[in-house]
Parts: sequence; structure tokens; C-alpha cells
Amino acid sequence: MKLHYLGIALFAIGLGPVTAAPTSHTHWNYLSPTGPDEWGDLHDEHALCSAGTQQSPINIKANTSAALPALAIHYPAGPAVVKHNGHSLEVTTESKGDVTLASGTHDFVQMHFHTPAEMQIDGRKYPFSAHLVHRDAVGNLAVIALLFDVGAKNKALDSLFSSLPRREGDSVTLNNLDLQSLFPEKLDYFTFMGSLTTPPCTEGVRWQVLKVPGTVSQQQLNAFKQLFPMNARPIQPTNDRMVKFAG
Ligand SMILES: [Zn+2]
Repeated sequence: MKLHYLGIALFAIGLGPVTAAPTSHTHWNYLSPTGPDEWGDLHDEHALCSAGTQQSPINIKANTSAALPALAIHYPAGPAVVKHNGHSLEVTTESKGDVTLASGTHDFVQMHFHTPAEMQIDGRKYPFSAHLVHRDAVGNLAVIALLFDVGAKNKALDSLFSSLPRREGDSVTLNNLDLQSLFPEKLDYFTFMGSLTTPPCTEGVRWQVLKVPGTVSQQQLNAFKQLFPMNARPIQPTNDRMVKFAG
């Protein structure tokens, strides 16, 4: 229905009718009829959103502890661009950085945010989270999820929250963002295999969820919610996945 109207609108302003190519951007959001329950039906490429068995987010209940290496994070501070992509704010950095896991080194690609946080730990819900997306040399994805409670102002995100890009497609450049200072002192984490939490819900994503939450102020959270009142996918079944705790 939406595409149909868009076609008429573009035709009316002289750009000609729109043909829905297979690669066309599929409209999705967090509200029915194009919300999480319908993502899998919106496009063939989104089929895993409803048919997948290793989907994220989950309610984390560690079922095994593992002697895994400590998270080796390396994100040099520097300039960053914050883009409003219609679903969240997406942050890219000039200096990139990386994380080394048992599976190898994964380069930082982008960070974005969700409210409320998507992952839960033993049923505990958090109001906000940051997802740091990484990719290794052969394309394997690894995401680090940081959880935040409401409390003290988040200093690392202060410059970001104080000049938000307000419309889809807008972006803001930050002089200096220090991703490393977003992390808690103790890097204990839960890890499991899951998926992207947005279409196309691709599986085979290695998740690392830090146990110790940080904080954002109520004012910072409100500023984000003004742009994105709710951008969290509901909890998905864990099924028979191993959820390891490293700490
Ligand atoms: Zn995310």
C-alpha cells in the first residue's frame, strides 16, 4: 500500500512511476502492520525474521560458564559521524578500531542504539542499549551490546546527545568520540550465537553482552526517545542455544 502511494506521489511530481526492484528499500518499523511480527512477511529476504531459530534478542540465562579470553577492545578516540537512518542513530568513526574474540579479530563497523534495550538478563529489562557491530576479514559479524540504566549523565555520549540529527538522512559530525570510555571497568560478558535484530535478521552473528550496565541520564534518554520512542525488537526464543558466561 505504501509503495503504491509513493508511486503516485513521484509520478505526480514528474519523476515517473516507481518500479519495485528486488533490491528496493523495504519499509519496516516497530509498529504493526510493518512491525516485528510482520517483518518476515514484508520481503523474501526477511524470511529469517519469522523462520529463523537463532534469533536475537533473547532473555539471557547463562547455561554454561566458559574459560573465554577477556574482551580485547581497541577503539582509538577521534572524529565520528552520527547519522539518523530512520530506525536509530548510527555512529561511524574515522579511526574504526576492533575487538579480538576467541574467534579472531573483528573490525568495528558502526554503533547504534535501542530503547528499551533489546537483550534482557534473567528477565531484567534495561531502558537503553548500544550495539557495536563488527565484521571480520571473511564477513562474520560480531556485536557487542552495552546496557544502560537511568542514572548519572553519560559523559562519553554527551556530545552525541547534545546535537542529535533530527530527521532521517541527517547527520552530525562529532570532533571527538571515545568509544572505549563507554565500556564498564569489568568486561564480564555473556556470549551466544544469534542474529541481527533488524531485517533481514541475518543469523550467524556472534553476540557479546556486557554484564555490568552503564548509565544515561533521564534527559539523555528523553532526547533519544523524542526521535525514536521505541525501537526494540521483542525477545525471541533461545531454543537450544548455548549461552556462555565469561568472567
Ligand atoms: Zn541493534
